[in-house]
Amino acid sequence: MTVEFISVGTEILLGNIVNTNAAYLSEQCAALGLSCYHQCVVGDNEDRLERAVRQALSRSDILILSGGLGPTKDDLTKEVVAKVFGKDLYEDAHTRERIESYFKRVRSGQVTPNNWKQAMVPEGAKVVDNHNGTAPGLIIEENGKIAILLPGPPNEIKPMFERDIAPYLNRLQPEGLYSKMVKICSIGESKAETMVADLMDAQTNPTIAPYAKTGEVHFRVTAKASDEEEAEKLFAPLMDELFSRFGDKIYTTREEVTLEAAIVSLLEEQKMTMTTAESCTGGLLAGRIMNVAGASNVYKEGYITYSNDAKERILGVKRETLMQYGAVSRQTAEEMARGVANVAGADASLSVTGIAGPGGGTSDKPVGLVYVGCYVKGHVRVEEFHFTGNRDKNREFAVARALTLLREELIGRK
Ligand code: ATP
Repeated sequence: MTVEFISVGTEILLGNIVNTNAAYLSEQCAALGLSCYHQCVVGDNEDRLERAVRQALSRSDILILSGGLGPTKDDLTKEVVAKVFGKDLYEDAHTRERIESYFKRVRSGQVTPNNWKQAMVPEGAKVVDNHNGTAPGLIIEENGKIAILLPGPPNEIKPMFERDIAPYLNRLQPEGLYSKMVKICSIGESKAETMVADLMDAQTNPTIAPYAKTGEVHFRVTAKASDEEEAEKLFAPLMDELFSRFGDKIYTTREEVTLEAAIVSLLEEQKMTMTTAESCTGGLLAGRIMNVAGASNVYKEGYITYSNDAKERILGVKRETLMQYGAVSRQTAEEMARGVANVAGADASLSVTGIAGPGGGTSDKPVGLVYVGCYVKGHVRVEEFHFTGNRDKNREFAVARALTLLREELIGRK
């Protein structure tokens, strides 16, 4: 089946907001096995929106619109789509009640009169409750075509899509789609892709597709099957093959597990704590660890030591080391890692020192040079990296490499 998206809103056309809904919907629909050949942005203009809706329905099975479901006059999506399908609008009592209770709960009771506009729905439409806002989602099915209207705010569209729309779209297909995300670290993207090139060439069911992720390689493996049991049977040989090729470089096959979560689990298993000392990453690394619910079991404290003085004073890096080798050096990274583990009383630590850019580079120590130190119970390993991105990318890569290094050391101890 084919799907097409229209993002509605003049602010998207003007560049005031980034069209993240389109990226989100594209990724979700691709994972559901739907083919998307077109998507567009239309401002809050009735004629242009009507033309876009008619054109989309003429060439695609399913049209998903986001935005323009609000209470104000320039929110036109529902009215235009109802017109195209030849439907009148009526007030849906259930939605009216939901709006009333939403206002009682979230906005101290007073419903502004224009909010009742959001309780108006096209005849015959399925109403999808919005648990995070007032505008309901709507599904209109007619003559083999489907229009799905979703609210614009990302914190409304995403939960609605995951809870109700994805299962609905899945049911439209004769077979369901089941997927696993094979997440790999400690290997470069092009090498990993080369290692599965034959599997990708030969793919039928399941299919295998690479996903970009800074410092990691993800492959989505998708099977079409009548139920989960059949899907597992289809997955098994391909998963065995992937494990035999990548071994313990695969840190999970579950979509929701991140690299930092895998590390926190490893530390918990080994009853160890960790800490961080960061220079050029300025807290990004600690932030990644803190993304994990329950990180407090393994992480008690960490430090941002940007200046030489802080490296010396807080971590105990020797002045001679800083003078002789510089702040961005293998020796400093090593002393930072040992020092922070000592100060925090942790079993393991990561240290990062480097030149993120754009300034500060020299011919000896160019922008992108980063040293990562990893301390685990008395032993320190330091790695040197040469990143070639901009400041943000270099810092992101440094964090990903640091996490990978700690994972390597921890699985080496298993
Ligand atoms: P509401 O019921 O809150 O009025 P709506 O369905 O009418 O929502 P819009 O008014 O079009 O949606 O957009 C509301 C907000 O949602 C925008 O200001 C923007 O922050 C966000 N938003 C809308 N469309 C997109 C999009 N395509 N990508 C990312 N964010 C979006």
